[in-house]
Amino acid sequence: MTTNGNVSFWYSDIGIPKQRAEMSGRVFADVCIVGGGFTGLWSAYYLKKLDPSLQIVILEQRFAGYGASGRNGGWLFGGIAGSRHRYEQTHDREAVLSLQRHMNDSVDEVVSIAERERIDADIVKGGVLEVAYTPAQLERLKEFVADEQSWGETDHVLLSAEESIARINVANTLGGAYSPHGARIQPAKLVRGLAEAVERAGVTIYEGTRVDQIQPRLAVADRGQVEAEYVLRATEGFTAGIKGLKREWLPMNSSMIVTEPLSASVWELLHWGGRETFGDMAHAYCYAQRTADDRIAIGGRGVPYRYGSQTDNDGSTQAKTIQLLRDVVVRLFPQLADTRIDHAWSGVLGVPRDWCSTVGLDATTGLGWAGGYVGHGVATTNLAGRTLADLVTGRDTELTRLPWVGRRVRKWEPEPLRWLGVQTMYAAYRAADKQESSGRATTSAIAKLADRVSGRH
Ligand SMILES: Cc1cc2nc3c(=O)[nH]c(=O)nc-3n(C[C@H](O)[C@H](O)[C@H](O)COP(=O)(O)OP(=O)(O)OC[C@H]3O[C@@H](n4cnc5c(N)ncnc54)[C@H](O)[C@@H]3O)c2cc1C
Repeated sequence: MTTNGNVSFWYSDIGIPKQRAEMSGRVFADVCIVGGGFTGLWSAYYLKKLDPSLQIVILEQRFAGYGASGRNGGWLFGGIAGSRHRYEQTHDREAVLSLQRHMNDSVDEVVSIAERERIDADIVKGGVLEVAYTPAQLERLKEFVADEQSWGETDHVLLSAEESIARINVANTLGGAYSPHGARIQPAKLVRGLAEAVERAGVTIYEGTRVDQIQPRLAVADRGQVEAEYVLRATEGFTAGIKGLKREWLPMNSSMIVTEPLSASVWELLHWGGRETFGDMAHAYCYAQRTADDRIAIGGRGVPYRYGSQTDNDGSTQAKTIQLLRDVVVRLFPQLADTRIDHAWSGVLGVPRDWCSTVGLDATTGLGWAGGYVGHGVATTNLAGRTLADLVTGRDTELTRLPWVGRRVRKWEPEPLRWLGVQTMYAAYRAADKQESSGRATTSAIAKLADRVSGRH
């Protein structure tokens, strides 16, 4: 029997947390952070490091780690969301190279803070492996690695089919790409451990407290309000639920399943001894990890978007999405045709209209934000937290000059255009994947068109 929803499998591992106290009445603080995921918690963590005297409160609608931070695929990796060329349009090449260096450093920073704060989040820095199993995917993989290297990512290397299979034995592998800048994590353990570390530093976390409106120096919640010099929005995929922000970032769904624990004899066939995070080069791509208890956790797009920017139902996932992800597992690893699926869940991530992440602070209103990580948030949230801490404390640093700082883009289209656009884009990606699976040697024109129309590339 597959458990459906219940926030995520990662909580069946550690238990759904008991909620902290709610906020009520009027509260005063120096900094109020809305949202208790990685963005909000890292911001609080680094703010306290820079200035321990700051009074900081976090307002969280459910519990810290309820959102994507407690549900993701556990890829802690240095990938930049969106096209580097877009960041280069507003800055220069050196600034984009610097962003990449800071992203790679963020992976090591998270690993080292987890160690320092004694957070056991099953972290293994085994790198990232991406595999091509159709000729068109192989063509894209080669272009991808060449592009990475042209941006100074010379650690990102192309692998032959044999080298790739030696790492992970994916059926029909034609080639792979490997980067050392990635680690596998158990996300709920990391986000819960971080919340405790932040509390130890003196930050107050109110849970079960939903913010409806954010204004300069004010966060209005269901049971009270916080007045603060700075109000930081850290609600990523849920941002559309706050008054006036419905079309800011599109709440994109991502869904995951996890297999039963696999036996040593199965792992002998699949390899995966290095615990690399793993993905493929399909247009509707998948992402996966080998968990600490020897399961495969794998995710991808099921129903990509719900009409009217609806967000979440405790991770509950449609039967057809579970079947779709199961089919992906069997396509990659035919040995697992009879393997049980123990848990399925979903979450939302934030997608800006230009698919590029952003962090910023308006010094006149005291309003700050970070997000739009487009599925690259596990490491990026750490960089966002460090950057917001610098901005709030008025420091001019390398981080505050990175090209994603203060980036503003237009809003998403109103409904029904928004819904129609995303449905059409993912239907196009699926059609393109199907064409490519039947032997097409180059990337399908349908996918190229979908990329252009959606504004992704
Ligand atoms: C299924 C899935 C798999 C993913 N896999 C990966 C991956 O492997 N690697 C990767 O890099 N990224 C991945 N991502 C993306 C990544 O998890 C997110 O980008 C990142 O966790 C965002 O962190 P956050 O703190 O900004 O947002 P969240 O973790 O979503 O936190 C926002 C918090 O704000 C709270 N909140 C929302 N609205 C309100 C309100 N009005 N009032 C009060 N509180 C509110 C929410 O309850 C939530 O706890 C994945 C995302 C999903 C959904």
